[in-house]
Amino acid sequence: MIAKVEPLTPARALRGPFDYRIPGEMAEVGVGSMLVVPFGRRRLLGVVVALAEESELPPERLVEPLTALDSGVPPELVRLGLWLADEYCSTPARGLALVLPPGAGTGGLPRVGVRLALTAELTAAGRSAIGGGDHLGLRQRAAIEHLEDGPQPAALLVRAASCDHSTLRSLEARGLIELQRVEQRRRPGVVGVGASAPRGLELTSDQRAALAAIEARLDRGGDPHGLLLHGVTGSGKTEVYLRAVAVALARGRSAIVLVPEIALTPQTAARFEERFGDTVAVLHSRLGQGERHDEWLRLRRGEARVCVGPRSAVFAPLSDLGLIVIDEEHDSSYKQEGDPRYDARRVAERRAETCGAVLVAGSATPRPESVVRMERLALPERVDRRLLPPVELVSSLESSGVLHPQTLEALGAVGDRGEKAIVLLNRRGWSNFLSCRSCGRVWQCRQCDVALVLHRASGRIACHHCGHSEVVPPACPDCGSVSLARHGAGTERLEDELTRLLAPLPVFRLDADSASDRGAIPALLRRFDSAAAGVLVGTQMVAKGHDFPDVTLAVVLDADATLRFPDFRAEERTFALVSQLAGRSGRGPRGGRVIVQCLDPDVRALRYAAAHDSDGFIAGELERRRALGYPPFSHLIRVVCSAREPGPETAAAAQIRESIDPGSATVLGPAPLFRRAGRERSQLLLKVPAGEGSRARAVASVRRAVEAAASDPTLRGASFSVDVDPE
Ligand code: ADP
Ligand code: ZN
Ligand code: ZN
Repeated sequence: MIAKVEPLTPARALRGPFDYRIPGEMAEVGVGSMLVVPFGRRRLLGVVVALAEESELPPERLVEPLTALDSGVPPELVRLGLWLADEYCSTPARGLALVLPPGAGTGGLPRVGVRLALTAELTAAGRSAIGGGDHLGLRQRAAIEHLEDGPQPAALLVRAASCDHSTLRSLEARGLIELQRVEQRRRPGVVGVGASAPRGLELTSDQRAALAAIEARLDRGGDPHGLLLHGVTGSGKTEVYLRAVAVALARGRSAIVLVPEIALTPQTAARFEERFGDTVAVLHSRLGQGERHDEWLRLRRGEARVCVGPRSAVFAPLSDLGLIVIDEEHDSSYKQEGDPRYDARRVAERRAETCGAVLVAGSATPRPESVVRMERLALPERVDRRLLPPVELVSSLESSGVLHPQTLEALGAVGDRGEKAIVLLNRRGWSNFLSCRSCGRVWQCRQCDVALVLHRASGRIACHHCGHSEVVPPACPDCGSVSLARHGAGTERLEDELTRLLAPLPVFRLDADSASDRGAIPALLRRFDSAAAGVLVGTQMVAKGHDFPDVTLAVVLDADATLRFPDFRAEERTFALVSQLAGRSGRGPRGGRVIVQCLDPDVRALRYAAAHDSDGFIAGELERRRALGYPPFSHLIRVVCSAREPGPETAAAAQIRESIDPGSATVLGPAPLFRRAGRERSQLLLKVPAGEGSRARAVASVRRAVEAAASDPTLRGASFSVDVDPE
């Protein structure tokens, strides 16, 4: 038998698959098996992507693998990884790395097996020895007494009883305790924030209808495009997911639940863990590689049948997959930023289709793409019939400082009544930029053509694009003036201002600076949750799916700032951000209000968000997209060429433009992008007619054009990145 093996090295030059002869003693090798194979003088880790009777290689050149590892993946996932590589212009190795056990893609061998811990347990003889007259040393007695409450890891016991391992071994020799090697799960649980989900709730009639539709699809063996659970914030979408998972499990099927970053929304993951216990494997960003691997193995072995996690959980090695849920389907974290630039929502659709699983995507602000593509299930009301909070739009032009008088007054009232508020300003740092009052110099990043942002707490000015930072200058290097002006405000300054204005009300800040370690986020959210009153200030991180029942005021500052980005999704993003934040207010009996500060209260995205009218917004948005030929009425492909010195990036972009089949797409560009991280950049944007066939043709054409440019010696120095369905 011949195995076609794709090596797992990220090098684009190494083109697999390569043939290997499988000897009789490796009979269990199949598609998805992982092998260590000789490759010239090297040893490589590879995956079997196909089996064949014969090879085109002459027999004397066929060699055998060195070892077959006992871990591997189901063939379904191998095909998914290869499909993805093709779909997103990546390499098979990179596509496969996504579906293999954690760690396998880095070229190293994965850690196979789990950590074993020595556990001590009392025997019957040991139990009677406690009260009896057995002669026991002081430490031996202490150890035995500590075991009275039940078995304990030896490592802990030794510490608790101040003895050592030899004490335990002599107790074992006397038959008083037993020492066993047991598998220890490396798995810190998810700690929830906010209210938990009680069992046995009676579903609302809308929830019941949604669940029935999902159940009917499950029984029919999947569906082509999936169901869109379009429910306002607080309409009980999570409860529908929980019930749907229970139904899938009862039918002997498994389930995947995709959530945006777990650190930001610990509540959803915690609800699944609460409801399904050990049947759930939760993959979150704080897991170390060992822990991740253990969870992966529990899924692979069928010990866990539900996987909850961020976008990569779409590759969970579950068999008999029956349901894939995508919570907050509008969230941009479902798109991976590095190669392969896959979109977990599209991958989920593909996987659901091949497994006969039902796809359920949910959001209060679904993407226009999903509205067009999926069948809609609506949850138009909050579960308790409480109304969505009224939204007031106020013009920032009428205020001298960052906060409009109306906003200040509302925040003050929250302080007086001892309630809670959330304030969103989507800009980190103290002020946007620094300039010299005498000569007008603006401090810019050396690597990027952007201004540096002042961070006062750290005493530095920092680039938000490449991470470069420098100490705040004492004076202007051009003219020597020591009078520097700070422009604009970010979350750091806002926190400072609110702390002063609202004292003694506590102010909590949540942004990438205050929680640079992801682990700090749940702790911060818990502190806000358990405080009697307070204000949570931060970037879009504060608008995620938190459920704090006692928030009575939500504020968005500079709400139309996101509209000023040159991005066709700017309107959609602004609408979602404002609607999502509004959804955080008024979840409790005291009701709530929402204030949106903006330059122009008349813009569409804000007007519809204020009216809580997502149907109206989407209808208008679809019309605009149709007129301009944007998704879902086309597919976009973005090609960025870059180089250290100006020149090759423009030449490369021009050449790629020439070689793309003009019948396959409308090509916009080359257009220069601002210099970033020391690289000059030029972009091409392809608009491809909607449809799977034309999409595949265009991707293939781009791939050929980029590969030709990459191997062209006249374009040396240029690098390329291709992004299909860019966010
Ligand atoms: P969403 O995800 O749509 O924003 P959640 O699922 O978080 O809404 O639900 C909001 C709250 O309503 C939660 O505290 C949840 O436990 C509760 N809830 C959900 N369904 C019901 C129901 N049928 N009856 C009463 N309370 C419910
Ligand atoms: Zn100056
Ligand atoms: Zn920079």
